[in-house]
This record gives sequence, structure tokens and C-alpha cells, in this order.
Amino acid sequence: MPVWTLHCPGCGNGFRSLVMEGARVPAVWVCSACGSREATPIDVQEGGLFAGGGSACGCG
Ligand SMILES: [Zn+2]
Repeated sequence: MPVWTLHCPGCGNGFRSLVMEGARVPAVWVCSACGSREATPIDVQEGGLFAGGGSACGCG
């Protein structure tokens, strides 16, 4: 699954988001920190895995 690296120009937050296999890349990315829809993808990597984390939940 591709892992997108995103950056929010509003708050400067950098985060990563998984896109499910077969799913379309979202047209709008929502910042995980401030909720802004201005987040922009700056990188994408194939087959990446989240290491550690534990609190990372894409729900809601
Ligand atoms: Zn933000």
C-alpha cells in the first residue's frame, strides 16, 4: 500500500497517510492536527509500513 507523506501549510504539521490498495487517492487531504483541508502530499512510498505508533488511528 502506498504511504503518502503530507504537509499542512496551515499549522506546519507533517504526517503520513495510508491509501488502501485499489482505492483512489483522495482529492483532499485533511490535516491530522488542525483539521485543515489544505494539506498537500509531498511524497509517496510504496509498501511502507508504520513502525511503532500505537496511537495512530485513522478512524473518524
Ligand atoms: Zn494542520
